[in-house]
Amino acid sequence: MSDQGRQEVPQDTQETYPLVALKNMVVFPRTRMTLAIAREKSVRAVEEAMMRPDRALITACQRDPDIEDPQPKDINPTGALVEITTMHRQQDGSLQVLLSGLHRVTIEEYLDQEPFMRVSVDTPQEPQARGPQADALVRHATNLFEHYAQLNRRFSVEDINSIVAIKTAARLSDMLAAHLVTDSQQQQDLLETFDPLERLEKICVIMGNEIEILELESTIRSRVRSQVDRTQKEYYLREQLRAIQEELGMETSSEAEELRARLKEKSLPPEVMAKVRKEIDRLERTPAQSAEVGVLRSYVDWVLALPWNERSADHFDIEETRRNLDEDHYGQILCFIGPPGVGKTSLGRSIANALGRKFARISLGGVHDEAEIRGHRRTYVGALPGRIIQSMKTVGVRNPVFLLDEIDKLSAEYRGDPAAALLEVLDPEQNNTFTDHYLEIPYDLSEVFFICTGNVKYQIPRALADRMDIIDLPGYMFEEKVAIGIRHLLPKVLTEHGLTPEQVKIPQSVMQHIVSDYTREAGVRNLERQLATICRKAARRIIENPKTYLRITTNSLEQYLGSPRYTLTPTTQKTQIGVAMGLAVTEYGGILLPVEVVTLVGKGDLLITGQLGDVMRESAVASLTYVRSRAKWLGIDPNFQETTDLHIHLPENAIPKDGPSAGITIALALISAITRKPIRASVAMTGEITLHGRVLGVGGLKEKVLAAYQANIHHLFVPAENKKDMAEVPVKIQRRIRFTFVDTMDQVIEGALHGAPPMETESENQKGQAPSEPNPLNNDQRTGNRDQLRRTGFTVNELPEGDTDEQEPSPIIIPQVDRVARDSYPNLRAKETDTRNR
Ligand code: ADP
Repeated sequence: MSDQGRQEVPQDTQETYPLVALKNMVVFPRTRMTLAIAREKSVRAVEEAMMRPDRALITACQRDPDIEDPQPKDINPTGALVEITTMHRQQDGSLQVLLSGLHRVTIEEYLDQEPFMRVSVDTPQEPQARGPQADALVRHATNLFEHYAQLNRRFSVEDINSIVAIKTAARLSDMLAAHLVTDSQQQQDLLETFDPLERLEKICVIMGNEIEILELESTIRSRVRSQVDRTQKEYYLREQLRAIQEELGMETSSEAEELRARLKEKSLPPEVMAKVRKEIDRLERTPAQSAEVGVLRSYVDWVLALPWNERSADHFDIEETRRNLDEDHYGQILCFIGPPGVGKTSLGRSIANALGRKFARISLGGVHDEAEIRGHRRTYVGALPGRIIQSMKTVGVRNPVFLLDEIDKLSAEYRGDPAAALLEVLDPEQNNTFTDHYLEIPYDLSEVFFICTGNVKYQIPRALADRMDIIDLPGYMFEEKVAIGIRHLLPKVLTEHGLTPEQVKIPQSVMQHIVSDYTREAGVRNLERQLATICRKAARRIIENPKTYLRITTNSLEQYLGSPRYTLTPTTQKTQIGVAMGLAVTEYGGILLPVEVVTLVGKGDLLITGQLGDVMRESAVASLTYVRSRAKWLGIDPNFQETTDLHIHLPENAIPKDGPSAGITIALALISAITRKPIRASVAMTGEITLHGRVLGVGGLKEKVLAAYQANIHHLFVPAENKKDMAEVPVKIQRRIRFTFVDTMDQVIEGALHGAPPMETESENQKGQAPSEPNPLNNDQRTGNRDQLRRTGFTVNELPEGDTDEQEPSPIIIPQVDRVARDSYPNLRAKETDTRNR
């Protein structure tokens, strides 16, 4: 009402006022505005106005905002009469003033220009704006404003409400002109438009344009945003689509589809099928970015890649054989035991070939983690199935011949027991549901033909050994090696080097040289290597001169292999005191195991050196007890220990297991050292000894015999218990070596010791009486030795030359003895058990 009132109050038309020129800014009547006044002239003008009772001044916009000191011609003639509501003086001398616009005025005249502008103004009457047309325009403008405000979001709710509430065209138009129009030119134009309706119309046009621009802007903005958001949106939509498809029970992701198709082709056991299906479902539900996708996918791949039903066709006749074998040997797993290079692996391969099956092989050497056999659980990073399942995947059929190499090297140190895991693999009771930690589902291994190999029996875990049918593959004899070299190795090595049998010839005599001079092994690996060396060098010569045909001769052999590594001279042993030759089995086959004993002046200490520990000590102590119990018969002082220390030494690389089987060897060496009686030349022995001097059986006879044969041993003492093993010893060796089977240590002493006391009869022995015959031991000599021993502090092991074979008893010819053997061993006795007679 007051606005209305003011409008209608007739103005004093010739009043004079101070004037403030504004840059880029128009003050509208009926509006308030805060201005910063900095120019000197303007500050003065405001100060002047403040001194007036009505605090009134004129504001007018400069035509050019860049003019600092505008002249009257530079100032728009239409301005506004305003009242200063408040004024604050700033520190820099400028003023902040809040103004209320009152009316439009037209500047009539500039009365002063210094120190501030003073003008006289005319205040024209504003035309009335009422009636339906005005109302309609107001309503239209209000609507437009509301729309505009919505798009622009510059106005607060209070602002919008207060503007919408205005009902007169004059006030509404000035409010909108002040708040909505930003361009000062347009504002000036609106100030100069005295008719409120005309003004409002102009503002409606401006708002219409603005609205159009804003709408366009928002369209563009949303289009840009939609592009940015597309990836996210697509992901979002795809997830929704998947959810919808699942809801409708439709087939979804292509990868899962593909896996399901592969699953359908495989006919898996039902529980496996269910498990894999579950994993595929999980894979499908897992977001593609998740790390788990890889884990799930490789799991499903693993299961699908394994042979579940694929099997090779067995050769029919062999299958029949196998069935027959199975009847007798159900569940027994073959296990080949023997030194390296005797063909265990190649035999396994040959079995696979013969059966027409595929061949798989893993080495268990050094496997100490159960997980290597049974796999890691999938919760481990980078988990994989164990080696059994890995090999099954590689071989691709469920019925391969599966070689488990070096089963004796399996170690159970920590992290579970690999032997137990292996038991589950091998045990026919369990292996149809073998569970790998990675697969988690049972896998049927019952159709796999398992063959194990190893070097020595005793290192195979007990539980495993129980389920095996152990087959010994002992080392080869010289002739066998030569034959293998000619028939198998040479053709094989020639082919490997791209040579023909015509290009390189190795006659039998040369092959014999290679075996004897360049190899010393139980198997033929080294022989194969030597042949490969010859072929390599020959190949080079043939490449240089393609017409070359080489025939290797004994003389030219050194050009290829260098000088001989081993000499053929047989190890004929000297007759020695205190040195007995034992036999042992190592991973590389049988070896000779000499036992040395030295007596020293002392007080009964027993010193044992060499590689063997407690086991050997037991044997030594048992032997010593036996020697003392038989002191009378042996003709030695039963209390010899009171004045004697004993040093037992085993120089060779024996293994602890050989301890017991060296029992009679230790005992004989002890007796020889104490009695000063030498042991016969070229004699070796093996056997366990009890406290009562009984000789017990030992293992590995065949290997030991081979070693003895190669070392040129002529006479072997073997426990009678081992007679049964003689069937395995090649007849050729039985002919060349004399075997004496013994039940008691007395028999060993009698047969192997020079100048041994004659055997007592059973009754005499039991009574512990002295032998009826005069003691054949040379007491004087013994005493002499003792004396010498006391003097020097140690015994001399070797007897002087000539003190040996004269003491051999005269030979007793026994009937039916092989002539060759008898000729070589003139000291055969009739009562000895001789294998050649059996
Ligand atoms: P192992 O597994 O016992 O250590 P391999 O089977 O690896 O021995 O045999 C070593 C090499 O000797 C192979 O080339 C093999 O063909 C050959 N070999 C071993 N024994 C024989 C044999 N009796 N006949 C033919 N070749 C043999």
